[in-house]
Amino acid sequence: MPHLDTLLAHAGCTPDPTTGAVVAPLHLSTTFERATDGSYPHGFVYSRADNPTRRDLETTLARLEGAAACIAFGSGQAAAHALFQTLTPGDHLIVPDDVYHGIRVLVLDLMQHWGVTATRVDLTDLEALDAALRPETRLVWVETPSNPCLKVTDIAGVTERAHAAGARVAVDGTWTTPLLQRPLELGADVVVHSLTKYLSGHSDVLGGAILTRTADETTDALRQIQTHGGGVLDPFSAWLTLRGLRSLSARLRVQCQTAAQVAAYLDAHPRVHRVHYPGRPHHPGHAVAKRQMTDFGAMVSFELDGTEAEALAVAARTHIFRRATSLGGTESLIEHRASIEAPPTDTPPTLLRCSIGLEHPADLLHDLSQALETGAS
Ligand code: PLP
Repeated sequence: MPHLDTLLAHAGCTPDPTTGAVVAPLHLSTTFERATDGSYPHGFVYSRADNPTRRDLETTLARLEGAAACIAFGSGQAAAHALFQTLTPGDHLIVPDDVYHGIRVLVLDLMQHWGVTATRVDLTDLEALDAALRPETRLVWVETPSNPCLKVTDIAGVTERAHAAGARVAVDGTWTTPLLQRPLELGADVVVHSLTKYLSGHSDVLGGAILTRTADETTDALRQIQTHGGGVLDPFSAWLTLRGLRSLSARLRVQCQTAAQVAAYLDAHPRVHRVHYPGRPHHPGHAVAKRQMTDFGAMVSFELDGTEAEALAVAARTHIFRRATSLGGTESLIEHRASIEAPPTDTPPTLLRCSIGLEHPADLLHDLSQALETGAS
């Protein structure tokens, strides 16, 4: 198989047999014509069930992740929700204590109506995982590095223990992409991506995907949920994601390099209490991250040495960092996480989360410098 960079560079670029176009066309049609004998000669019937552009993206993502199957949804949350819907009443699932707050709401609130219970566990502590696993635990959800505190979980360690207890492991690969971390090779059963972030990469797509290591009854159930639940990824978003994938490797390389510089800068800043970035040698998950990641990612969080109001003021003073939620685009974003997360939140009140984009590092450091220093006591 070619290198991942090569696969990415050619995403969505299978020449169109009817025109020779190098970039695959966008298939917006919702329905497909039958032949005179009533058959569907090209295999497509109706776009909720299957669509050529969405299928192209699903096939590409499965190859990139080394997965048997990929099922795409209208958002990362819809993808995660579909996976949780494969559980049955009475099942138990484990989620990390630090996890994207949307997932927290999904499992601790919405899934309760499904009769599924969930426990939050510090998955950096494998003994805590052992203690939380129950006979009815069916799934362990891993997010590493976690959102927003960048805690690092040993995927292979979690998988070994979960499998021994009869539970499957799903890893949220949104922050790492198939380039920085390969959960299926570390033993995980499922990878879930929000396509909204690095994979599409330009803050103009909402999408999600589930990738399964084997094609089995869970894959079939997910296809059923996709087709009949109907929360599918639309063809234009699939096409834009394929376009974004073509530059993923180059984008991420620069974003990771700049993130490392930003983290080092913040680490030395007198107004910064603590930097959360697994690339820093003092980070508690540094050794595990070094082992299971090819680079440390482009998300950096830091806690201000001050009050919540001062942290909000820092976010308000940036000019190049945009003050907005989300991540993974070409533009750098800064966000005070505690104020967007649904209460109750454990996120430290002075924590600011930065998504590092493609701007020149000197401009980003200058922006942080003036935001941290203006009005500093
Ligand atoms: N997983 C992680 C780690 C995220 O950060 C997010 C969104 O920020 C999601 C999942 C949800 O993705 P979406 O917004 O596409 O539903």
